[in-house]
Amino acid sequence: MSFNELGLSAELLRAVEEQGYTNPTPIQRDAIPHILDGHDILAGAQTGTGKTAGFTLPMLQRLENRPSGQRRVRALILTPTRELAAQVNESVRTYGKYRPVRSMEIYGGVSARPQITKIRRGVDVVIATPGRLLDHVREGHIDLSSVEMFILDEADRMLDMGFIRDIRQIIRHLPERRQNMLFSATFSNEIRTLANNLLDHPAEIQVAQRNTTADRVEQRVYPVDKARKRELLS
Ligand code: AMP
Repeated sequence: MSFNELGLSAELLRAVEEQGYTNPTPIQRDAIPHILDGHDILAGAQTGTGKTAGFTLPMLQRLENRPSGQRRVRALILTPTRELAAQVNESVRTYGKYRPVRSMEIYGGVSARPQITKIRRGVDVVIATPGRLLDHVREGHIDLSSVEMFILDEADRMLDMGFIRDIRQIIRHLPERRQNMLFSATFSNEIRTLANNLLDHPAEIQVAQRNTTADRVEQRVYPVDKARKRELLS
């Protein structure tokens, strides 16, 4: 399958072509049409699968499909770390280079002032770590009531880092009607609960069963008495 068959606009295809990609990766092939159709998504995706383009390309397309006059935050992407936020924003800029989309990163550990100035100037896409975003929300610097697309990237890492309460708080500030996407490399019970609460009849893409192992690791079982485990291993 080629990128041309996914229903993406000429500007996006041009940006993709400039990256030298010839074919979509499996996650892109499976996720992009569902996202373009407006469905919620639950996707099993590790780094390196092309997941970032998998959600940024259709997100950009949906933003261009329904232009809104005034700049408001229409897409919100939460990431566990500032490095990932920067990386995702780089992808938004790369793929959106032929579209007038304005995006910004929001994360802690740096001064809040420049972020507030940028928010005030108007932004369509925000890529944020949960803590600092919540600070801006609480202090009234950012309005999330126009968010149409909400994306949790590396959700398992966010839960590992203790962000679940912040994520729940942020969700309370989003409008009821929106498209939700959850990307996670692993699926613990906690992730499943979050997904069940967040997603509405999601399209499930490459979602591994709970506790499945990496498919590139071969595993075998050798029944052995407890006392002889070490012997067997050696
Ligand atoms: P990600 O899994 O989103 O972190 O992406 C991993 C890497 O794959 C990034 O460096 C992308 O630039 C690259 N990539 C994304 N989509 C494709 C594609 N369709 N073909 C080749 N490389 C890609």
